[in-house]
Amino acid sequence: MKKLSVQDVELRGRRVLTRVDFNVPLDAEGRITDDTRIRAALSTLEFIVARGGIPVLMSHLGRPKGQRQDKLSLRPVADRLAELTSIPIRFANDCVGEPAKKMVDDLKEGEIGLLENLRFHSAETENDPAFAMQLAELGDIYANDAFGTAHRAHASTVGVTRHFDQRVSGLLMDKELENLGSLLGNPRRPFVAVLGGAKVSGKIEVIEFLLGKVDAILVGGGMAFTFFKGHGIDVGKSLVEDSLIEKVRAISELAKESTTQLLLPQDVIVSSEFGEHGERKEVLVTDIPENWQGLDVGSRTLAQFSDVIAKAGTIFWNGPMGVFEIPAFAKGTRAIARAVAKATDAGAQSVVGGGDSVAALTQMGVAQQISHVSTGGGASIEFLAGKPLPGVDALSDASSLPV
Ligand code: AMP
Repeated sequence: MKKLSVQDVELRGRRVLTRVDFNVPLDAEGRITDDTRIRAALSTLEFIVARGGIPVLMSHLGRPKGQRQDKLSLRPVADRLAELTSIPIRFANDCVGEPAKKMVDDLKEGEIGLLENLRFHSAETENDPAFAMQLAELGDIYANDAFGTAHRAHASTVGVTRHFDQRVSGLLMDKELENLGSLLGNPRRPFVAVLGGAKVSGKIEVIEFLLGKVDAILVGGGMAFTFFKGHGIDVGKSLVEDSLIEKVRAISELAKESTTQLLLPQDVIVSSEFGEHGERKEVLVTDIPENWQGLDVGSRTLAQFSDVIAKAGTIFWNGPMGVFEIPAFAKGTRAIARAVAKATDAGAQSVVGGGDSVAALTQMGVAQQISHVSTGGGASIEFLAGKPLPGVDALSDASSLPV
C-alpha cells in the first residue's frame, strides 16, 4: 500500500516531528567518521523548510541502553548538520521534558531543531506509551525518514504515531520503499539475489520467501557452511549453526522443486586460523581440511557468480562473501561489488543493502553506479522476506489523502 508522503501534505507553519537516522559511526574520541546518513537526510529537511514547515528531528545514536552517555550525544551531529546546510540548527539536550519543549517553543520558521539521543531513555526501545506521548507533543504532524529503523517497533517509530492524523514518509523513505517495492513488484528478469554474511539465521527467511520469486539466489559468506554441513560435507572449523541444519536442508529441497536456482560456492579460501596470520589456501568445498575454516569464496565461485550477475536484469545484494574486514578475505566481496556495478552499467537494476556490502562498493569506488544503495541493511532484508515493517505500517496510507 502506497504511503502518504511529506510531498502530499500542507507543511506551512507546522512543526514536523521527523524520525531521522543519524546513527553515524564514531571514532574512539566520539568524532563522526562518516556523515553519509546526515547528508542523506538533507533533501527531506530542506524540502520541509522550503515548504514552510519546521522540522523537529529525533534519532538514536549507538546503544546507550537507556543511560545518558556524553560520547553518544547528538550534539556533534547538530554541529555537522549546521556545516552541511545554511539552515540554522537548534539543539535540545534531552528529547523530552523541559529542554525539548523549550527548543520547540523557540523554533521559528526557517530553522531546524534536533532532539538529543532518543536511546538515552530506555522507554524508546520499550515503545513506552507515556514516552511516546511526550514525543508527540513536540510536533503537529509526524514524518519518518529513517528506513534503517523501520523494522523496529519503538516509541519514535510506532508508539508516537497514534497521536497524529497525518503520518507521512520522508523523501528518503519514499525512495527506499519505491526501489525495494519494485523488486517484489514486476522486476526485470533474470532477478538475482546475492546473499552473504555471517549467519544463516539472519537470511533464512529471505531465502525461503524468495524461492519461486527470483531466478537465482547466490549464497556466500559464513552462512554457506551450514548448507554444506546439511549436505554431509565436512567443513572443518567453519562457521556453522547446527540448530538450523534441518531447516537449511528443507530449503535446499524446496529450491530443487522451485523455479529458483540456489547456488552455493564451489570453492573457498580456507585458513588455519581465524584472522590474518594463519596459513591460507584455496580448496574445493569438499576438500576443507580438518581444523581449518572457510573465510572467503574461491575463484571458481567468483567466476560463476559474476557470470550469473552479468546476465541479470535485476540484482539484490546484501551481505559480504567472506570476512571482508580482513583484506586477505575481502576479494570475494570486492569482486561481487565490481560485478554488480558492471551489470548495472549494462542496464540491470541493482539494489544493495547492508553495511559491509555498501562499504565494499565504496572501497571499490563503484557506489555511484548502483541504482539504489539502501540505508537499511536489516530493514531491507526484512522487507525482501515479505515481513511487515512496523515503522512503515504505522504511516498513513496515500489513499487517506483528501480528494
Ligand atoms: P551479517 O551481519 O550477517 O551480514 O554478517 C557480516 C559479517 O559476516 C562480517 O563481519 C563478516 O566478517 C562475517 N563473515 C562473512 N563470511 C564469513 C565466514 N566465512 N566466516 C565467518 N564470518 C564471516
